[in-house]
Amino acid sequence: MAKQILVTGGTGFIGSHTVVELQQAGFDVVIVDSLINSKEETVDNIEKITKIRPKFECFDLADREKVHAFFKKYTSIEAIIHFAALKAVGESVHKPLEYYRNNLNALMNLLECMKEYNVKNFVFSSSCTVYGQPDKLPVTETTPRKPAESPYGNTKAVAEDIMRDFTVANADADMKCLALRYFNPIGAHPSALIGESPVGVPNNLVPYITQTAAGIREQLSIFGDDYNTPDGTPIRDYINVVDLAKAHVVAINRLIEKKNKANYEFFNIGTGNGYSVMELVKAFEASTGVKLNYKVVGRRAGDIEKIWADTTYANNELGWKAETPIGETLLSAWNWEKRVRGIK
Ligand code: UDP
Repeated sequence: MAKQILVTGGTGFIGSHTVVELQQAGFDVVIVDSLINSKEETVDNIEKITKIRPKFECFDLADREKVHAFFKKYTSIEAIIHFAALKAVGESVHKPLEYYRNNLNALMNLLECMKEYNVKNFVFSSSCTVYGQPDKLPVTETTPRKPAESPYGNTKAVAEDIMRDFTVANADADMKCLALRYFNPIGAHPSALIGESPVGVPNNLVPYITQTAAGIREQLSIFGDDYNTPDGTPIRDYINVVDLAKAHVVAINRLIEKKNKANYEFFNIGTGNGYSVMELVKAFEASTGVKLNYKVVGRRAGDIEKIWADTTYANNELGWKAETPIGETLLSAWNWEKRVRGIK
């Protein structure tokens, strides 16, 4: 029988792409999502891609009773992938308690239920935000973490610590947690049926680019060109969301097959290549043939100058590698935006 995986936040951007990859790898998926930041029609679109409808339950994971009720109903969950979380950096500065309450309670409720209902495998969405501005680039898994710049970032760091402590306390029960530290996920499924749908004005670069190209935003603001980088704009490691989704399938198999080297592990999930904001804008124009209206403005508060991953450990240890060229990834983001907006 197909192994059953709980995917929290499975109607979100990375979650939905991961559900598709899990189903295509033969897993039976149950999604839990509160839909505060995503739409139920994503379940239909996942089904259109895979021809399999994932099970779907709508509730808030910060509600402990509901999480217990879920595990009483679904008694053969083999592993959990936990995406569901609030993720707006700026908002978290204004609403810290909401971020800590939501993100940490959901995590602790799930871990508590892992123990109570004997689910041994847990994969968590962490972020390269835990590295802050590293002193040395690229960042490896041994690069020290820096104090978080925002409550959002701190929820990721604290979540990692909670998982580490949980696995130590429950080592005899073989409870395993694995954190994937994502760099900058972008793009969309090649079918253009699922992708990134930010609510309101996008904070992230690529949705802002595609919405500007679609005429929804008048102009892209490039936040600063006076950084210590070759063209003065900040550098990030942009990773294709389908490549990223595949890393989760590998992580799940590693835990289920007991190939993990420790009960708590963490990996950098990036491409190993850094692109500046200006390079990304130019790559978008080159791959789509659409000219972007942009202007360089002042720096955005809290932005770091440059970061990209050393992926050696993930590549060797997981046997996983990001493969999609940046142009193809940007084109997929544009195709998704066009489909959503009805642009031919
Ligand atoms: N950025 C920009 N204009 C925008 C949004 C983002 O110039 O409208 C820049 C931002 O300053 C950063 C990079 O794009 O250098 C990536 O930002 P994003 O918010 O996508 O991800 P982050 O790395 O901040 O998590």
